[in-house]
Amino acid sequence: MINFLDLKSINDQYQQDLKDACARVIDSGWYIMGNELSQFETEFAAYCGTKHAIGVANGLDALILTLRAWKELGKLQVGDEVIVQANTYIASVLAITENDLVPVLVEPNPGSYNLDPEIVVAAITPKTKAILPVHLYGQLSPMPEILAIANAHNLLVLEDCAQAHGAEINGKRAGNWGDAAGFSFYPGKNLGALGDAGAITTNDDELAETLKALRNYGSQKKYENIYKGVNSRLDEMQAAILRVKLPSLSYQNARRQDIAALYCEGIKNKHITLPFDASTLDIRNYKSHVWHLFVIRCVNRDSLQQYLSELGIQTVIHYPIPPHKQVAYAEYSSLQLSLTSDIHDEILSLPISPMLTGQQIDFVIKACNEFKG
Ligand SMILES: *Cc1c(COP(=O)(O)O)cnc(C)c1O
Repeated sequence: MINFLDLKSINDQYQQDLKDACARVIDSGWYIMGNELSQFETEFAAYCGTKHAIGVANGLDALILTLRAWKELGKLQVGDEVIVQANTYIASVLAITENDLVPVLVEPNPGSYNLDPEIVVAAITPKTKAILPVHLYGQLSPMPEILAIANAHNLLVLEDCAQAHGAEINGKRAGNWGDAAGFSFYPGKNLGALGDAGAITTNDDELAETLKALRNYGSQKKYENIYKGVNSRLDEMQAAILRVKLPSLSYQNARRQDIAALYCEGIKNKHITLPFDASTLDIRNYKSHVWHLFVIRCVNRDSLQQYLSELGIQTVIHYPIPPHKQVAYAEYSSLQLSLTSDIHDEILSLPISPMLTGQQIDFVIKACNEFKG
């Protein structure tokens, strides 16, 4: 049986260090907003190349609070439009509507599943105030092009980096391109805690200060509240756990990149569309993708999933229903987004855990190649 993702075996790599870190927190007697959090914030900011990282309770809060901070700073107002790709995970859209901003759901680029600069430009109206590029599946959006558009139209850029820790273009990492970025450390992400956790990265001092207050009841000084804030703190235990795992994130990402290269080179089946054609891209040196997910497309997706499952290969669909077709977003259900619909009908994520063995990778490749359509 090849599990889609075996979190226990991933975390077993660090078992003793994780236990030591937890013991250190228990023994410290300090469990919220202490040394582990401030150390992790310093280390994660250094990893991303940004001036600040601000720990919060989860990835959704990272996005919600950043947009909220821009409202507090007068940079966004209720009713402003935010452009985001329609095929994202619902969290990206929830962050926008939670702030009474208006999501403008656009079709993605069919090759990358990410924002397409031409489609973004076409969606800009006088009410557009921000772009929210989601680096979906682990691949950085075309940030140089998106920043050029944002500069030309005076728009804020909030990266959703929940799936793309460590992805880079020209040596510059996810989280260091936009005005701010939201990260999730949900256990299954490329850098995962053992519970919920998230962070915002930015180079903007004023935004960082505002976020530090918002996550902690709107308070910068104890018992003095300057905003109607929330409780969204990254606790000491999760911060200590993340500090154990952060130093090997680059290695874990490299493992994923190796497996993706083997899949791209090995899977040859006319019924299966790969994320990249290995013959046209230097897949072994492609650093813009950290392969949180390896997503293929197949017209007979459900029979492919059934066939792989019978062979003991577990796959997942990310995601079966796009946000605008969810009951929660009934007001957007009439949007015509045919590419997004096709994507959701045809995508399938193959296992790409960094713990997969060579034998398991070969087995997945062989199974895909023998699928009869
Ligand atoms: C996981 C994820 C989030 C939300 O992260 P949580 O920590 O679960 O709140 C946001 N956006 C995307 C694209 C995600 O994959």
